Amino acid sequence: MKYQQLNIQTQREFPNNARTQGFGWLVRAGYLTRENEILPLGGQVIERLQSLSSDPSFLTHFSLPLLSSDHETFFPISTGNVEIIHCEACKYAERRELANFKKTPFSQEAELPIEKVLTPDCPTIESLANFLNLPREKTAKALMYTRTAGAQFVFVAVRGDMQLSEAKLKKVIGEVRLATAEEISKAGAAAGYASPIGLKDALIVVDDLIPQSPNLAAGANETGYHLLNTNCGRDYSAAIIADLVEAAAGDPCPRCGCPFTTESTVSLGVKREFNFENILLALAETHHDEKGLAFPKSAAPFDVYLMHITGKESDTRTIAEEIYTALSSAGVSVLFDDRDERAGVKFNDADLIGCPLRITVGEKNLKEGMVELKPRKAEKNMLVPLADVISKIRETS
Ligand SMILES: [Zn+2]
Repeated sequence: MKYQQLNIQTQREFPNNARTQGFGWLVRAGYLTRENEILPLGGQVIERLQSLSSDPSFLTHFSLPLLSSDHETFFPISTGNVEIIHCEACKYAERRELANFKKTPFSQEAELPIEKVLTPDCPTIESLANFLNLPREKTAKALMYTRTAGAQFVFVAVRGDMQLSEAKLKKVIGEVRLATAEEISKAGAAAGYASPIGLKDALIVVDDLIPQSPNLAAGANETGYHLLNTNCGRDYSAAIIADLVEAAAGDPCPRCGCPFTTESTVSLGVKREFNFENILLALAETHHDEKGLAFPKSAAPFDVYLMHITGKESDTRTIAEEIYTALSSAGVSVLFDDRDERAGVKFNDADLIGCPLRITVGEKNLKEGMVELKPRKAEKNMLVPLADVISKIRETS
């Protein structure tokens, strides 16, 4: 394709809204607008990626620092919108809300008799733990929902030191919404002082740590009161026991026990549904230098950046046109910089845009029957006889 046909507009300056290097280079090189819209050059990369994506492992060929769960691939980037849990030791990675971790149950203790206590102004786990002088893990946290399908009231209990993952809950029982005050009192619960004991028509769902944690403090379903020593199985039964809580940094990995770290990422794809715009960003983030982008061959918008330096005596442009035609019919994808710009401008743009190979047709070399070839990442260029250009390109790539 021709440069002017693609209407490429490179920028001299980094956009002031560039929060990452990769985004900045994509805007400067004319792949994206500052508003993150895809321009024809970016579209060219995306088309290439789409054609490769029938091979589900194609992402592994671009030297990207990927993190993967068994169904999703992530790229770490500070501006990413997906927080993941990551184990550096065994490479376990998963969206934070879905990550598993090794849970540590309490040391077993005998079940104690239940006891109702006055707990004024303790509607939160923190206030309750402070008031009773208990660690948060000796309390049960109550969360109340209504199932979207069938409008069933759902009472969820997790240990007081844990955070419920709504994503995990929805995987177990389907879509839910928060229960209304009316639904809560109809079920016989009291907001801020709720427990699963004695509820009417409620689906009781508990995290798997709850049955393993004896003698938890829980609400008495009466404002201002809690129960000490509630025990799942003895005082109430749960219809569903499942892993329902969020992992956090420092929690032990389910596979190897090493502590987790958290990371900001973007998702590059779930199973075989790829996010090509995020892959373009990941490529730019990983493959650039101080002059611009330097795409790996299979992901570059074009194999070759072809340019001519306007001659004083000879018609370099016509020769470049001929090379363009010959390469194109040989199946090489070429971006032909057909502008009558100064050589320096074109060299800069070639480096910015980052095709793997540059071919320069200049008067001086042409007199010897040669053109110049320069791989984007090489320090030096080489001279190649005009007749050998195609075979040389096959060799280099
Ligand atoms: Zn691990």
